[in-house]
Amino acid sequence: MWIFKNKSSLNIRSVPLVLASSFLLTVFAFLPNRGLSVILGLYSVQEVKPKVFVWIPDDVIDQECDPNFTRAATAGFTLTAHGVAVIDTSNSPMHARDLLFEIRRRTDLPIQYVINTSAAADHMLGNEVFTDEQATLISTKAAQAEMFEYRQELFDREHSEQGFRLQARMRGFHVTPSTKTFDEKMMLNMGDQEIRITSLIRSGTSPDEAVVYLPSAKTLFLGELYDNKYFPRVGSRDVHRWIEVLRQVEGWDVDTYVPGHGAPGNKKDLVDFRKFLEWLVAQVDMRLKQGQTPEQVQRSLWLPKTYNWHAADLAPETVADVCRQLAPPAPAPVPASNQPEGR
Ligand SMILES: [Zn+2]
Repeated sequence: MWIFKNKSSLNIRSVPLVLASSFLLTVFAFLPNRGLSVILGLYSVQEVKPKVFVWIPDDVIDQECDPNFTRAATAGFTLTAHGVAVIDTSNSPMHARDLLFEIRRRTDLPIQYVINTSAAADHMLGNEVFTDEQATLISTKAAQAEMFEYRQELFDREHSEQGFRLQARMRGFHVTPSTKTFDEKMMLNMGDQEIRITSLIRSGTSPDEAVVYLPSAKTLFLGELYDNKYFPRVGSRDVHRWIEVLRQVEGWDVDTYVPGHGAPGNKKDLVDFRKFLEWLVAQVDMRLKQGQTPEQVQRSLWLPKTYNWHAADLAPETVADVCRQLAPPAPAPVPASNQPEGR
């Protein structure tokens, strides 16, 4: 497995900067790895299988993006006889340009397809960069509808009272929904690489999320359905159905699982993530059954105490979302006409 780090060009005027950077490198070499990454804002690219690459951003809170999606998502690409297919485009056109830069270091072939695993903005806000490359943007029909909704919702936020801040943060962003859709499955035959896209999670109010399977490479891109050592966003995703889906893909002929956040994992890493979800559900369920309110559960269950993972800032929301799903519905208010009359 090869790991590439991005490099920038150097000229004579950069020398003082390079010396300062060398000093910082020396200083930060003695700090934990994450400290170094945050300072330099690096990403890495792993060739997980021949001609299958994963672009992995460091855990950095981006300032120039939607404040609801400040953490760049992992993305990928595969080079085939018929051109390039890209899987997800991260949370900004700037990161998508990093991704394009890494593709162009390796090939001049046309970028045929961009596949969005879901409508999550941190996985599709880079789409516009690949429209410039004449790529066809693919997602499920439901995810496309969610992308259009997001674009409208973002417009509304930008034109609200404090919207000028958001406009400044997202200057130059053009939300670009998918251009080609499918319902449940789609197959792309790209010569030496077959790509199978399948919608797996849809149920009730869950967002529509697809996985991208490269059978000959035994590699599966799971988007938001799998985070590797990052606390996940649960949102309205049905957590029981989610666990079922993870069990299902654990049985597939796959040895490399690419997450929506974090580095590629093996089967054991995926199982660990599924076990985390099962543990979380059991913990929340137990506390609710003991009579704790959802607010008390959120206060008593501090996930980073048990799991030393990235995105600790998301941990309270992760618990809150599971509480919302598992808490018994509040009793309906008694209509005024049925209430005993006071004196
Ligand atoms: Zn994400």
